[in-house]
Amino acid sequence: MDQVKIGRFIAACRKQKDLTQLQLAEELGITDKAISKWERGKAMPDTSIMIELCDLLEINVNELLSGERINMESINLKNEKLLLDMTKEVEQKNKMIWATRRVLLLSSLVFCLISTAVVYRFVPEGIWQYAIMAALVAVLLVPGFYATKLDVTVGTYKCQKCNHEFAPTYLEELLTPHTTASQFFKCPKCGKRSWCRKIVNGKTVRF
Ligand SMILES: [Zn+2]
Repeated sequence: MDQVKIGRFIAACRKQKDLTQLQLAEELGITDKAISKWERGKAMPDTSIMIELCDLLEINVNELLSGERINMESINLKNEKLLLDMTKEVEQKNKMIWATRRVLLLSSLVFCLISTAVVYRFVPEGIWQYAIMAALVAVLLVPGFYATKLDVTVGTYKCQKCNHEFAPTYLEELLTPHTTASQFFKCPKCGKRSWCRKIVNGKTVRF
């Protein structure tokens, strides 16, 4: 607490109310020396007297202790800005996660195509070819599961029947038929099945 600032504030409010130090002191039942001490920043008003003092000066305790008028409007604006910044941060994060998922799916697809081509070209048909293909599928399950996990973390799905937006569980996400950005879910609100569209940051995404 800045006692000097508070003192100056008390003096300013007192003058605004056209009161002398003596008049204010009488109203509070204390000496004018006490008031002079507050106003010079040498002492703080007793807590027992604060509320009465605030009433007389038509300020609130919060304002008294911060030594200035507090504009409610500016507080609301500040909160709004904070909220906006937070939303922006979440949107940024969502964007990054979705981009990661895209890269993951695309690179898996490319890897899958190239390795299949290589196996067919260089490994003679037979048990080894099957074994390698099975191993490739197993390896691709890893990015597949990871992409699914990212998908659950970010955004929602929009029911095509009632426009309700919802987030599926990991298991639902994994076990329901889907394309790159829509999935055949049963809507938890209307109970109907439809190809629900993926929504990230308020927009439908295709991939
Ligand atoms: Zn629905």
